[in-house]
Amino acid sequence: MTDARVAIVTGAARGIGAAVATRLARDGLSVALLDLDERSCADVVERIVAAGGRAVAVSSDVSDAAAVDAAVRRVVAELGPPTVLVNNAGILRDNLLFKMTEDDWDAVMGVHLRGAFLMSRAVQGFQTEAGWGRIVNLSSTSALGNRGQANYSAAKAGLQGFTKTLAIELGKFGVTVNAIAPGFIATDMTAATAARVGVDFEDFKKGVAATIPVGRIGTPEDVAHTASFLVSEGAGYVSGQVVYVAGGPKD
Ligand code: NAP
Repeated sequence: MTDARVAIVTGAARGIGAAVATRLARDGLSVALLDLDERSCADVVERIVAAGGRAVAVSSDVSDAAAVDAAVRRVVAELGPPTVLVNNAGILRDNLLFKMTEDDWDAVMGVHLRGAFLMSRAVQGFQTEAGWGRIVNLSSTSALGNRGQANYSAAKAGLQGFTKTLAIELGKFGVTVNAIAPGFIATDMTAATAARVGVDFEDFKKGVAATIPVGRIGTPEDVAHTASFLVSEGAGYVSGQVVYVAGGPKD
């Protein structure tokens, strides 16, 4: 167990982050679950450990440089140097442009873009030193444009450029950098969207499923499976890609 790869998954208390952390632990990695309040990760950590995995919870706000550096230092002390990073933490502050506040804009940019930047910068030194690493950034089909999400779609499109640039810079150190762009995944985030537009979540999911080629909405495990592949040893020749996990083609 001592030479297991160490992964950090941000926003891992619930939803996609919790599923990715659980899957990477099942794949044999030691996993640090990072979220605003580490107590919110306790259940997921407990389940991972009960299944024979190794996991710790760490508090941090990914948009705060000092908190990020302190969290990564804690991961090094508790699990070892991290060489896998999944930038998953995310928030929504949806509104039409004319109603969008500067706070709505800055908060979304802060968590998604600044957060991925700060986390990647804090982890890359361990990856280049190891001559091996994996970064997976959570983009979204909203990167292609989505009404009411000027802030979120700009951040998710920005993450695609960030992904490709890091892939170019870090490739020679054995580090791959890819993005996953999920379509509709059933989580608290999409439940909140249904609540905002005043539609029952079950009806909302049925309506969305009818528009998806595979005829269903996505699960956090669908995304975790793709993350598992991108993090795997065998995926070392896949870098700078955006993998749409959306039940159909997107362009
Ligand atoms: P979620 O259920 O809302 O979970 C997001 C997690 O991120 C929460 O645990 C949240 O903590 C944490 N978080 C928020 N701000 C943070 C910060 N500043 N620092 C650290 N952690 C923070 O979301 P999800 O649906 O699983 O989505 C995960 C990622 O996938 C996001 O990047 C999202 O944009 C992306 N995505 C989701 C979908 C979808 O359909 N669900 C589709 C495309 C892309 P708290 O609970 O404490 O707030």
